[in-house]
Amino acid sequence: ALTIGIVGLPNVGKSTLFNALTKNQVLAANYPFATIEPNVGVVNLPDVRLQQLADVFHSERLVPASVSFVDIAGIVRGASEGEGLGNQFLANIREADAIAQVVRGFADADVVHVDGKVDPQADLETIGAELMLADLQTLEKAIPRIEKEVKSKKTDPGVLDAATAAKDALERGVLLSASALDLAPIKELGLLTAKPFIFVFNVDESVLTDAARLAELAALVAPAKAVFLDAKIESELIDLDPEDAAELLASTGQSESGLDQLARVGFDTLGLQTYLTAGPKEARAWTIGKGWKAPQAAGVIHTDFEKGFIKAEVISFQDLLDAGSVVEARSRGKARLEGKEYVMQDGDVVEFRFNN
Ligand code: GDP
Repeated sequence: ALTIGIVGLPNVGKSTLFNALTKNQVLAANYPFATIEPNVGVVNLPDVRLQQLADVFHSERLVPASVSFVDIAGIVRGASEGEGLGNQFLANIREADAIAQVVRGFADADVVHVDGKVDPQADLETIGAELMLADLQTLEKAIPRIEKEVKSKKTDPGVLDAATAAKDALERGVLLSASALDLAPIKELGLLTAKPFIFVFNVDESVLTDAARLAELAALVAPAKAVFLDAKIESELIDLDPEDAAELLASTGQSESGLDQLARVGFDTLGLQTYLTAGPKEARAWTIGKGWKAPQAAGVIHTDFEKGFIKAEVISFQDLLDAGSVVEARSRGKARLEGKEYVMQDGDVVEFRFNN
């Protein structure tokens, strides 16, 4: 499964946020196939369509899509020189498909800031610099090896070109994700700044309703996406029943919890979308990549569905909702039989036909 790694300086609220994520996972653990790992937290993707679908099919339960977060470790200044940035850390962060960087915005004088003062911009620069240095080291090690491989014709010269261009960009202080370079040839190097980034500003409750301040913080990381939350409130929300949680959220001027926002933004950053299935047992969202074709999407349910794929009966979510039942949608001509080349759309309600 795709995962998002959580990084940030010490004392910015990573553990507090992560505890909320793992508690959430314990609550979500009665879903099929869920496994609990100590450093993985799962958030369900909020999706109002599931309940509506369950109403149409009289489904017993809802199974939402989810996003996994991995708690990586703190980064400190000098981390790329080995201070606090162990090999395990590097291995974990390389494996993540995207990175969520937690940035401290809360003031609390009782919580020491590693660099002495709360300054989101300076923190972003510190972490950015460490990640760029780590990538430079990776490239400096890899380039001589790639050169040899190109000479002996084991590796395509395009790989060397991409590696050299990436090194140049980093030396100019450019994050690879912002460089517009084609990094596909050097994907296996697991370069950190080439990964998609989400920025999570952990701010005081008062900031959550301060639109001007939020805009300032968002501008620091644009065009990357920013999520604003108060990790302390998130850890309280998770212990409340839905009504009390909604009330607490409303009292902070928000309509959606930070964890829900994080799930949505994370899902989008990873380039994912969902299709839906429903029956009397469950209404369920299945995670696929954008642009996937029908057989590959079927394979997410079961490999046999992909191997034996014949056709998919597809109804767009809104068409189904308007019709009120599959039978009515069919008689309105809204149920389409799609073949192997069909490109899945977000919110397709699907039934696969397959040979086994
Ligand atoms: P980490 O080192 O990044 O994992 O940070 P922690 O989650 O351990 O948080 C460090 C300290 O800051 C703890 O004492 C937390 O209770 C506190 N803290 C975390 N988030 C918030 C927040 O949103 N507001 C306030 N006031 N304190 C927080």
